[in-house]
Amino acid sequence: MPTYDPTQFGFSTRAIHAGQEPDPLTGAVTVPLYQTSTYAQEGIGQHKGFEYARTQNPTRFAWEASMANLEQGYAGFAFGSGMAAIDAVMRLLSSGDHVICAEDMYGGTFRLFDKVLKRYGIEFSVVDMTNHDAVKSAIQSGKTKMIYTESPTNPMMKLTDIAELAIIAHEANALLIVDNTFASPYAQKPITLGADIVLHSATKYLGGHSDLVSGIVVVKTESIAEQLRFIQNAAGAVPGPMECWLCLRSIKTLSVRMKQHEENAKAIAEYCAKHPAIQATHYPGLEQHPQHDLAKKQMTGFGGMISIELGSIVKAKKFTTSVKLFTLAESLGGVESLVCHPVSMTHGSIPQEQRERLGITEGLVRLSVGIEDKEDLLADIAQALDAIS
Ligand code: PLP
Repeated sequence: MPTYDPTQFGFSTRAIHAGQEPDPLTGAVTVPLYQTSTYAQEGIGQHKGFEYARTQNPTRFAWEASMANLEQGYAGFAFGSGMAAIDAVMRLLSSGDHVICAEDMYGGTFRLFDKVLKRYGIEFSVVDMTNHDAVKSAIQSGKTKMIYTESPTNPMMKLTDIAELAIIAHEANALLIVDNTFASPYAQKPITLGADIVLHSATKYLGGHSDLVSGIVVVKTESIAEQLRFIQNAAGAVPGPMECWLCLRSIKTLSVRMKQHEENAKAIAEYCAKHPAIQATHYPGLEQHPQHDLAKKQMTGFGGMISIELGSIVKAKKFTTSVKLFTLAESLGGVESLVCHPVSMTHGSIPQEQRERLGITEGLVRLSVGIEDKEDLLADIAQALDAIS
């Protein structure tokens, strides 16, 4: 349960304090790293509530409490990666259940659904989540148990109207699941908009320093929490205490990092939108983004992710090797700027026809804008664009 009331304290205050009270034993201001696999018991059945570290770890509990508070949900559950978090959520389903999922999402999520979960008898309909009629007509009465989406999407930066989708899901007695990795809870809180489950690749903005792989799920209700707690322990895809400790360290600076990511990203997106070498710039903070009004309505920030269309694989290759401060690498959300080529790196698992329909072309390049000096990043982009012009 949240320890700091969101109506009483602001986001930045809660990011520093919620779940992170000084250690009752020593007064340590930082939550201790409980690097242990088991706990001494005084007698059979007599212990302090901690028996085995897959089930209970105080560092993990602190991280889960912190995120439950920031996402304004009932409880949090940490996992060994973002994919492990998604996999655990999908284990709420049974064979024969049907899921409606977004056509525009992280390639690894699509791969898990298409290549693994289908084999266990889970059925998927892949739809454009901005088309509410398409979502409604994909519902199979009594069978559809989940609507699964990302917002903003990876890499096309499309938004889902979370409040509208929650209504559609709940009318069908289905759960709405939102991958909030791109926004982070600083910029968007899906549970407050009606979602039932929110999840993250904590590897990205939550960890924020490109030094860990982890995942986290926050659920709205006690009954979903009970089921997920069981799955977390039974399947056991928990993170190590070190990852939880690093996440606790990182979450304290989420607000300041996100403000700088956004300030830099906005400047770069505005620059790119006017540059003749760029055919399209996708960033929800731009006024010309087709869903800018929705972004203003449901988000409290626009984040640090931008995609740009350079027109050809030759130009994409030249650009990604010409930038000097943006490192060519998978992943995103770290303090350092990264550039990625989705077709060959993160979205190879999406069928070519689907990729092309979505605009994930060979000329598309994704920027994860870091928190370096804005002027340096702009100069780097400018010289790389000169190189392809
Ligand atoms: N969700 C999104 C939006 C992602 O971008 C990623 C990874 O890039 C994942 C989930 C998977 O997370 P992880 O790499 O931590 O398993």
